[in-house]
Amino acid sequence: MLMLTIDRAKEALKKYFGYDRFRPMQEEIITNVLERKDTLVLMPTGGGKSVCYQIPAMVMPGVAIVVSPLIALMKDQVEGLVSNGIPAAFLNSSLSLDEQMMVEHQVRTEQIKLLYVSPEKLVSPQFMGFLRGLSISLFAIDEAHCISAWGHDFRPEYTQMALLKQTFPEVPVIALTATADKITRRDILSQLRLQQATQFVSSFDRPNLSLTVLPGQNRFKQILRFIESRQGQSGIIYCLSRKGTESLAKKLSAEGIIADYYHAGMSPTERDRVQESFIQDRIPIICATVAFGMGIDKSNVRWVMHYNMPKNIESYYQEIGRAGRDGVKADTVLFYSYADVMTLRDFLDDSGQKELQLNKLLRMQQYAEAKTCRRKMLLSYFGETLSENCGNCDVCANPPETFDGTLIAQKAMSAIARLADPKLNDLKKSISVATGMLIDILRGSSRVDLLQKGFDKIKTYGAGRDISYNDWQLYLQQMLHLGLVEIAYDQNNVVRLTEESWKILGNQSKVEFTKLSSIRETFQKATAS
Ligand code: ADP
Ligand code: ZN
Repeated sequence: MLMLTIDRAKEALKKYFGYDRFRPMQEEIITNVLERKDTLVLMPTGGGKSVCYQIPAMVMPGVAIVVSPLIALMKDQVEGLVSNGIPAAFLNSSLSLDEQMMVEHQVRTEQIKLLYVSPEKLVSPQFMGFLRGLSISLFAIDEAHCISAWGHDFRPEYTQMALLKQTFPEVPVIALTATADKITRRDILSQLRLQQATQFVSSFDRPNLSLTVLPGQNRFKQILRFIESRQGQSGIIYCLSRKGTESLAKKLSAEGIIADYYHAGMSPTERDRVQESFIQDRIPIICATVAFGMGIDKSNVRWVMHYNMPKNIESYYQEIGRAGRDGVKADTVLFYSYADVMTLRDFLDDSGQKELQLNKLLRMQQYAEAKTCRRKMLLSYFGETLSENCGNCDVCANPPETFDGTLIAQKAMSAIARLADPKLNDLKKSISVATGMLIDILRGSSRVDLLQKGFDKIKTYGAGRDISYNDWQLYLQQMLHLGLVEIAYDQNNVVRLTEESWKILGNQSKVEFTKLSSIRETFQKATAS
């Protein structure tokens, strides 16, 4: 019976999208949804998430409700579907009351298979009442990271989504996102009441993207040199401010380079014009704020530069991800200067998430300053481990001096393990501490709260006395970048072990540390610019 349904799904893929086969994870995801199980999908942009709910929507009886916060993109998405022969519609505040009533009529008379709505529309009592009278095939929650306050793009409108499972316990829910670390993923599931959901996490590795971080001195000269060797190639330069995009585009034009700018302060017509010229290869280079790129389907962007450092790794990863969608080699360059970090700090808003945003910014800064394979760091941020250095980043191209850090790492990890495991010491319950306390334990400090908690009774107390406090910080950062420890920013930044840690503790693999002298060198360059 189910076999039949997946065959129908394949037919629908051919009929509506013209594709012969599913990508590997799509088939498993669609099977899960067709079995009416809740599903969480984490797949990079361009991975093919939409099909995962659009095909089940076409095959299952009833109407699928798609929740998307990107009101600006809804119209385009729906028009695209309709032109493929899929009966889709949308409801949001951009429609007149008459238009909304018209759509509701079409839905009620079962002429629509996919209905896109904004989150605020979804949770309105009037709309929930409307939904109760319908036969619903599934709920799809797009951009699901917006639900979590731990995500990097939290939308308060998304917080009442628990209503869905409470009101419609029988209807399967599929949540999709391209950007969520482990903590955010856990939070999405709990917010949506989907604790039983099957999770599909595809690899975030984009091996065709080179990753480079350069000190921010003489950025403009460096950019000119970079562009000169890439005549006619499409590229995006992300800047922090609107003004910055304009002045950079002007400076490039003055050098005879065809470039334009894009930011949210421009009129919609102007923005469309710039976007279209870029997509149609008339203007190869766009200097833009983060407003540029959402929903742009251009596969041959050959490079992405960050004139300024992004505010967190999620944004950085999404922005560089716009390069090389065709799978062909593409380059990414991040300019790093300490001044940018200070500016970004000033930008942090008071949304009650200042602490979180600051932690994410710090992690971004650490990425820029570190001398560890960039891809290893990026992937470990999203919970993946890369066993070998990538060979396609600036650190791999200019390997720093390294040494066998297994013993140092083991000291730190065994201290964490002993704190967390009540059997190994005489503490009553498992305890986690932040890095500051951990280092003090390793260094055998006699600070009062440490002694009061009995941490001086742990076997590893003082085992790392020979290493300075500051050096320990840098080693722990490397462990974090290598995925050997985790910092739970949702729980006062306590340090935790990972699956990888146990391999090191069990002497199954070794740890390669970068010598601290080469890390300090990068830091000095950045502060000088
Ligand atoms: P996402 O939402 O993950 O960013 P999309 O759903 O927009 O990705 O899909 C990205 C591109 O891949 C689209 O052009 C889509 O038509 C195409 N695509 C999706 N599934 C398949 C498939 N099975 N075979 C070939 N192309 C596909
Ligand atoms: Zn590398």
